[in-house]
Amino acid sequence: TARIGVLALQGGVSEHLEALSRVGAETLPVRTPADLSGLDGIVLPGGESSVLDKLMRLFEVRDPLITLLRAGLPAYGTCAGLILLADTVLDAAPGQQSLGGLPVTVRRNAFGSQAHSFDTTLEFGGIDHPVAATFIRAPLIVAVSTETAVLASLDDESIVAARHGNLLGTSFHPELTGDDSVHRYFLEMVLAAKNG
Ligand code: GLN
Repeated sequence: TARIGVLALQGGVSEHLEALSRVGAETLPVRTPADLSGLDGIVLPGGESSVLDKLMRLFEVRDPLITLLRAGLPAYGTCAGLILLADTVLDAAPGQQSLGGLPVTVRRNAFGSQAHSFDTTLEFGGIDHPVAATFIRAPLIVAVSTETAVLASLDDESIVAARHGNLLGTSFHPELTGDDSVHRYFLEMVLAAKNG
């Protein structure tokens, strides 16, 4: 199987650990640079992306994580985690920077305050049934590079899941729905990268 860490500095960590265990991964909360060694993949959870950015610097995991991502470590970012993976962030907090690697542009808090949290189901490329999705003060993917696969959208203009190589991001939280199919999809990405 695969050893998948969940960045555990802030945000919705335990639900990801549980979903990853259910699909058969070995899991580990990641809080220190040492926790990054020996991982086959990592999940960057939802939470508050500007706070996660600060905490990754404080705990000195930001630079080693960037090195691992650039070397091909598979990563899956949900919501704030998607913002961390995006190359370009619109409406970032002052001083906020992403890790980058996923060649997309995201807009933070892209849904108005009226609709900032909702549940829906979505067609998702590579998954054979509509996926349950919870959106909480979610970002939208407003532009993607030509090599990036769009996996799910709310409508023609609202991209909510994208993949480029070993990096996967969703605007929504599948870990809050009981539908483990996106975690299974990520585990398969991780196993394919691991087994060459
Ligand atoms: N609005 C948050 C941010 O900008 C993301 C919310 C979430 O992760 N549910 O980081």
